[in-house]
Amino acid sequence: MRKRMIAGNWKMNKTYSEAVVLAEELACALADGTKGVDVVVCPPAVDLKGVGAVIDQKAAPVALGAQNVYWEESGAYTGETAPDMLTAVGATYCIIGHSERRGYFGETDEDVNRKAKALMAHGIVPISCCGESLETREAGEHVAFVVNQIKADTEGLEITDPSKYVIAYEPIWAIGTGKTATADDAQEVIGAIRETLREVFGEKAEGIRILYGGSANPGNIAGFLEKQDIDGALVGGASLKAESFVAMIESSAE
Ligand code: PEP
Repeated sequence: MRKRMIAGNWKMNKTYSEAVVLAEELACALADGTKGVDVVVCPPAVDLKGVGAVIDQKAAPVALGAQNVYWEESGAYTGETAPDMLTAVGATYCIIGHSERRGYFGETDEDVNRKAKALMAHGIVPISCCGESLETREAGEHVAFVVNQIKADTEGLEITDPSKYVIAYEPIWAIGTGKTATADDAQEVIGAIRETLREVFGEKAEGIRILYGGSANPGNIAGFLEKQDIDGALVGGASLKAESFVAMIESSAE
């Protein structure tokens, strides 16, 4: 029922020309399709147009995503990007609430909620991130913490098509550290997220994709996908090389 998804978060990596090269490599490697996997790449904002142009020219089976958005339509918000601006360069997905944005830039659950509403009002699919710190996990409070994030992040959201809202569970201690959660660790929290989504959205919860993120790579992706509630991955480091990203897409085919 839920189509698997592999989304690449390039973070603050790749200059314009490097981003174009990576997009061309992906387009070439995926020329025969993605075997039913939804593939998204999220380059830095200044690279969106160039990567989008490669995707269009090569008719690559890849969707374009941004890494952040602001909820206002336009105006005096120096440094920010409005949803319409993302649409204008071809972005159809946008990551929100990444732990790096929460940690370094003070993004709150209230911000994440406003961003989700603004994106959905413009037909852009949010990839809404959540996840606990090591301290919270060691205190045994990880499930309750993430459930509270989900409740706050989804407050008042109206979902008509559940395939158009995506959650990424990314335990902070596993991001970019080489330490992955086990598939059981991830399913424990992602199962609780699904249960919370059922309380909030009823049967629509069954159609919402929940991705795992945190040092996911070609060697461990299959183990996560065996779990009933895990629908794919949000990938940082391993999305920066076409070879590893494509290997993950191939391992995700059903
Ligand atoms: C991420 O940034 O969303 C992420 C999961 O990074 P990494 O795969 O490098 O841990």
